[in-house]
Amino acid sequence: MVQVARFDRFPLGHFPTALEPMDRLTAHLREHHAKVPNLWIKRDDCTGLATGGNKTRKLEFLVGEAVRQGADVLITQGATQSNHARQTAAAAARAGMDCKLLLEKRQARDEEYELSGNVLLDDLLGAEIVERVPAGTDMQQAMELLADDLRANGKRPYVIPGGGSNPLGAVGYVVCAQELESASIAVDWVVHGTGSSGTQAGLVAGFRAMRSPAQVLGISVRQSAEAQIDAVFGLAERTAALIGADGVVAREDVLVDDRWVGAGYGMPTAAMVEAVRLVASTEGVLLDPVYSGKGFAGLLGNIADGRFAVSDNVVFLHTGGSAGLFGYRSAFERS
Ligand SMILES: *Cc1c(COP(=O)(O)O)cnc(C)c1O
Repeated sequence: MVQVARFDRFPLGHFPTALEPMDRLTAHLREHHAKVPNLWIKRDDCTGLATGGNKTRKLEFLVGEAVRQGADVLITQGATQSNHARQTAAAAARAGMDCKLLLEKRQARDEEYELSGNVLLDDLLGAEIVERVPAGTDMQQAMELLADDLRANGKRPYVIPGGGSNPLGAVGYVVCAQELESASIAVDWVVHGTGSSGTQAGLVAGFRAMRSPAQVLGISVRQSAEAQIDAVFGLAERTAALIGADGVVAREDVLVDDRWVGAGYGMPTAAMVEAVRLVASTEGVLLDPVYSGKGFAGLLGNIADGRFAVSDNVVFLHTGGSAGLFGYRSAFERS
C-alpha cells in the first residue's frame, strides 16, 4: 500500500496531467532508426502553475506542510534561471505568503540569462531575489541564515531545499507514478531529465511500492552517473520509508545516463538544441534548454542505441521549463 493521503496537500496544479502519444515524432524516427518504441509524453509541463513544471507536484506537499506550520514566508534557492524558484514564487502567491529567493550564479552569461525568462517571472510573481551569490556557495546554509534573520524580525519562514527535493517533495512524484500506473497503457519506461533528484526518486519509490515493473531512466543534467545514482537512490529509500514502503527500492532500480550533460549544468549542447527544435517542429511541444532538452536528447540517443523494444511504451516525462528558453536565446541562434 502506498500512503499519500495522510500528508497535508495544498492544491496548486491541474492533475492528473495528460498522457499523449507522440505520433508524428514516432513516425519521423521510424524513417531513420530500426528500433523505435511507442513514444508518449506525460505533460507535467502543463501543471497550470505559472507556466507549469515538475516542481508543482512537490510544492503541493511542501506548501501543505508550510501552511500547517503557520508559515508566512517561503525561502528557496536555485540557479539564476531556476524553474523551481519561479514555481515556488507562484506557490507563495497562491498561498498568500511572501517568497524570498537566493540565486546562485553558476556560470557567467548574457543579460537575457540574468534578467529574462524565469528571472522576469520571479519578479512578476512577487518574489524577492534577496541575493545573487557566487557559484559554490553553501546554499542550504545561506537559506538557514536568512531564515534566522527573518525569525528575529517576527516572521515565520519555511525553508524549501533546492529543487524541492526532500522526501516530502518527492512524494509528489509518487503520485505521478500512481497516475502512470493507472493509465490506459502499460508503461514500460519513463525517461526524464534528472537534477536535484526528487523527481526520479519519487517515481522509483512509487513504482516499486506498487510492485510495478516500469523502469525509470534519468538523463543526468549535471553530474556523473555514479554521483547521480547515489543521490537518487538515497532519496528514493527515504521517500519509500516516508510512504510506508520501507526497503522496496534497490540500487539497481536507479538507472542514469550521464552522456548528455555537455560542459556542465545549464551549458547548452548541440544535441539539446537539436532535440528542442525537433520536438517543437514535429509535435508543437516546447522543451527547455537545461533539463527537458537534454533529457529528450538522451531519449533520442538511447533509441539510436537500440535500448528499447519496438513494442515498448516509452513515456517521456516533460518536466517543464520552457520559460527558460527566453534566458537562452543566444544558444538557439542559427549560424
Ligand atoms: C527541476 C527540474 C528538473 C529536474 O527534476 P529534479 O527533481 O530536480 O531531478 C527537470 N526539468 C525541469 C524543467 C526542472 O525544472
